Amino acid sequence: MNNRTLKIVTVFGARPQFIKAAVVSRALSQYPDIQEVIVHTGQHFDNNMSQLFFEEMQLPKPTYHFDIHGLPHGALTGRMMEKIEEVLLREKPDWVLVYGDTDSTLAGALAAKKLHIRVAHVEAGLRSFNEAMPEEINRILTDRVSDLLFCPSEIAVNQLRNEGCLSNGAKVVMSGDVMKDAARQFAPLMRKPTAPLPDRYILCTFHRTDNIDNPQTLKLLLYALEQTCNTLPVVCPLHPHTRKSMESIDYPIERSPIQFIEPVGYLEMLYLLDHCTLVMTDSGGLQKEAYYMRKYCVTLRNETEWTELVGCGYNHVIGKEPANILQTVQNLIDVPPVFPITLYGDGHAADIIAETLRQT
Ligand code: UDP
Repeated sequence: MNNRTLKIVTVFGARPQFIKAAVVSRALSQYPDIQEVIVHTGQHFDNNMSQLFFEEMQLPKPTYHFDIHGLPHGALTGRMMEKIEEVLLREKPDWVLVYGDTDSTLAGALAAKKLHIRVAHVEAGLRSFNEAMPEEINRILTDRVSDLLFCPSEIAVNQLRNEGCLSNGAKVVMSGDVMKDAARQFAPLMRKPTAPLPDRYILCTFHRTDNIDNPQTLKLLLYALEQTCNTLPVVCPLHPHTRKSMESIDYPIERSPIQFIEPVGYLEMLYLLDHCTLVMTDSGGLQKEAYYMRKYCVTLRNETEWTELVGCGYNHVIGKEPANILQTVQNLIDVPPVFPITLYGDGHAADIIAETLRQT
């Protein structure tokens, strides 16, 4: 690398991306010859889905902050691309850095690629093999146009090899998972939420469109969670999309046996993870965080991108059939979660990412 400053435009817009970007941004800031310009698309905009993470994780304030949300996928992605393109024409970066699998990820990658700006994708190579998921389309297409692909696992590296990503001249790097970095760095700062908590509880989150868009599916899932409360209390930070879907079926959120709480910040989430007996979720990130915090996870989906955890018996992917959920919970709540945390790198993925961007 010569003396020239390397300019990186980071594009993000959703909660899990703020968490991932926080650790990478910190690693990038260690290099005086790297300038990071942050673009927030506005995909997530509530204070407790966005701003809170900037404060808690000391993520630098975005240079560009759009207000693009609440639209169907096509309109959302299109408007984001238009605004991102303007930024890229003005900033002329060396790299555009994108995270995960949201519409903000794809918009950033496509806008950059069409301007011949190199794209780096963090959390590359993950697949659910379920193309009905909008996230799956975003991942596949972002990987396809990326020049630098940072993978959290060897399975992800092999997936990209099998898909022929390397034949485009793209570089695939097994960096490990940046969320492992986040858990390692922020766990000492975990904070007790203000909501009263039972002594033992299941920590639950769900917000995948597959679980909340169809009223029948949502009712079935809520019934399963209500039944689970007879075994152990269920504490559920409620995603705004899930709240909206529950309100549309007139579900009595305040009178439910499930303890719904407002979405919490990352430091409170780490506390909830650390103190829970079990995790139940359809979130991608939470499946790994359960593992990093040594908790078994019951995944309310039919498949997962994080297959290593299933192979090891830490994650039980069981769909949303109430009888399966109840049986799996009962089987797991008294099993001591004793396992080594060796998967997904060594918790220094962000350093590998920063150094590779600098050297490539
Ligand atoms: N999370 C959080 N507060 C909450 C719920 C989740 O900080 O109330 C964190 C969680 O710990 C994980 C990330 O948000 O780091 C996961 O985001 P989400 O489930 O929204 O997205 P996914 O990982 O499924 O893409």
